[in-house]
Amino acid sequence: VDLAIGNKEKAHIVPLLQRLLRDRAVDTSVSQDGEPRPAEQNPMIERFFNYSRAFVKIQEGCDWQCAYCIIPRARGPNRSMPPDWVIDQVQKLADSGYQEIVLCGTRLGTYGVDLVAGPSLATLLTRILASTDIRRVRLSSIEPMGFDEQLKEVIVSSNRICRHLHIPLQSGSDAVLRAMNRPYSTSDYRRLVDWFKSRCPDMCIGADLVVGFPAEGEADFRETTEFIQDIDLSYLHVFSYSVRPGTPAANRYSESQLIPPEVVRRRSRFLRSLSRAKRRSFAKSQVGRTLNMLVLRKTDDSSGKRMALSDNYLNVLVDADDASAGQILPAEVLSVTESAIVGRLLNR
Ligand code: SF4
Repeated sequence: VDLAIGNKEKAHIVPLLQRLLRDRAVDTSVSQDGEPRPAEQNPMIERFFNYSRAFVKIQEGCDWQCAYCIIPRARGPNRSMPPDWVIDQVQKLADSGYQEIVLCGTRLGTYGVDLVAGPSLATLLTRILASTDIRRVRLSSIEPMGFDEQLKEVIVSSNRICRHLHIPLQSGSDAVLRAMNRPYSTSDYRRLVDWFKSRCPDMCIGADLVVGFPAEGEADFRETTEFIQDIDLSYLHVFSYSVRPGTPAANRYSESQLIPPEVVRRRSRFLRSLSRAKRRSFAKSQVGRTLNMLVLRKTDDSSGKRMALSDNYLNVLVDADDASAGQILPAEVLSVTESAIVGRLLNR
């Protein structure tokens, strides 16, 4: 290993690599202080090489401690980028031609709580919509406890905010959620999803699930599958539990209490098959709809068609020329097969 850098130093990877090549010296550049980097040290990004969308990281770290998660130790406490910096960054990307930006963070819903008189995520979104020309904004993952009434209203009230939310669930068993130190119940989660789907029926909502947490017995897993079958989610990201030394779960459970790997694999397979069914069912519900799609640079190897991403997170194959890449254009969803969703750009 010639160079080890910390998460905080990622923004400086180019000068660090240049120094390594120049000096040929083994280097370690990992800051230990956990202090936020001053905004002026965060370089403004103009382009993402070969990407049709741009990503703006507005927050880092987490002040909570889920039993299985190493992030609070690895990334430190919650730190938010100043709102003026975020506005300038979003406008710069819009000026560079990006039509969609994705707002990212380790725990996006806590944006602003560390800033003096800082805005909430809802206030920041309102400012982005009012002060920048960006055509549409997508939100990355937001924890269930990150939604307040104001944020929910802002999300469903603007057609410039993508109808796509990723809300980690982690388990459909209340006992397992408590053991994980997740501060909500399955009823809270269901209420949240139902609220969004009642206000915005075509919204795509996805969830993370951790499979094989040591407290997850067969009955708990059954509760999870029943909950997932019953709730209006459009896809799942399924992760297998793994021991992270230093986390509460690693200290609490002995090796003999871990779920055997073959059981974790079986449970994961089952949830992934549920996810495929939900994805297909959501896609089929959109056939015949006209959706605003961001035409991507990527093409599909087998059909040669170009990929396009709808605001509600469908990956659709369309016939589109190079000039359309990066543009948001209306397209009709034509069909859904086992392997692809096919659409047609309108007015072409
Ligand atoms: S899972 Fe999310 S909320 Fe929980 S400790 Fe990790 S980063 Fe924080």
